[in-house]
Amino acid sequence: MRKKTKFIHAGISRDPYTGAVSVPVHHASTFKQDGVGHFKYEYARTGNPTREALEKLIADIEEGTHGFAFASGMAAITAVIQLFSAGDHILATDDVYGGTFRVLTKVMNRFHIDVTFVDTSDLDAVRASIRPNTKAIYVETPTNPLLKITDLRAIAGVARENGLTFIVDNTFSTPYWQNPLTLGADIVVHSATKYLGGHSDVVAGLVVVRNEALAEDLHFIQNSTGGILGPQDSWLLIRGIKTLGIRMEEIESNTKQIVDFLSAHPAVEKVYYPGLIHHPGHKVHSSQAGGFGGMASFTVSSQEKALEILKKTRYFTLAESLGAVESLISLPPLMTHASIPRERRLELGIEDGLIRISVGIEDVEDLLEDLENALR
Ligand SMILES: *Cc1c(COP(=O)(O)O)cnc(C)c1O
Repeated sequence: MRKKTKFIHAGISRDPYTGAVSVPVHHASTFKQDGVGHFKYEYARTGNPTREALEKLIADIEEGTHGFAFASGMAAITAVIQLFSAGDHILATDDVYGGTFRVLTKVMNRFHIDVTFVDTSDLDAVRASIRPNTKAIYVETPTNPLLKITDLRAIAGVARENGLTFIVDNTFSTPYWQNPLTLGADIVVHSATKYLGGHSDVVAGLVVVRNEALAEDLHFIQNSTGGILGPQDSWLLIRGIKTLGIRMEEIESNTKQIVDFLSAHPAVEKVYYPGLIHHPGHKVHSSQAGGFGGMASFTVSSQEKALEILKKTRYFTLAESLGAVESLISLPPLMTHASIPRERRLELGIEDGLIRISVGIEDVEDLLEDLENALR
């Protein structure tokens, strides 16, 4: 099965009982047992048929063997970190998603799981940060908002040499463009709230592995801590994933044209997009992913100017989040990255006038006119 076919036909794509071509939403919390201990499903925290259909689907499309659905991306990431124990140390990409930074530094530290943030695009820096108690490397690529790229095959090599679990947040690329498990990762996590859901109407998280022992441990944690995705949201995600392929193709084409427009515009200073030849991660990203995605950032001369632009766009909606059919625009220094001190933000390259866009699937001519008017 090829990718777009898989999104529609992989996993459990129909109801064997009625022949319905859409998986039913099973709102049952418990299931009748044929005799004590004889059952297919027992209790819906442990397993629910609608959630199971989604979990089988994400496992298939990420080239894994076991999938797990959680109530949010953060619940999924938290469950993955709970694979580790007090005294363990984790290396993480230095500009990971803000919520990941927060859960690692303000929650998991309470359980004595230690973390070091490192530029994972620098292999020597990664090697130098490994300690005797290091157990995992946690990578995001491309990152937010500067679209920094990490070489997944190279990090997989370092992880293997040192016996570390290699975790990748694949939210930005989606399984349509990038499959980290095939590049040597052990665990893939997703904020399915973004491209997988794709319509800004569901909050969800997914985890995929291809190792039996990891799968067993993850299911144990999912069932023990209980941060599961409900049946209605599981169904919404299955529906969203069916169109992931055509959405990502359209987003790719729109984003290319918008990035070209921005690169040529006199009011725009810098453009960050891994599809640009001069982007420092262009070659590595091209070697590990089939497309560059719908996230791009650009700078204008000042924050005042940026704020004016954000007021003027009509189709680019001013909002956090990303990855949906509608285009979104945001100002990371005052929104997603506001909790980082300005000095640190500037060190990271997040300038005051940095604007981030998430390109949707509107007619690209409307999107271009929208930006043209706002930049005037
Ligand atoms: C949004 C996001 C998350 C968190 O997911 P939620 O569904 O909001 O909990 C994690 N990683 C990345 C890259 C994200 O964009």
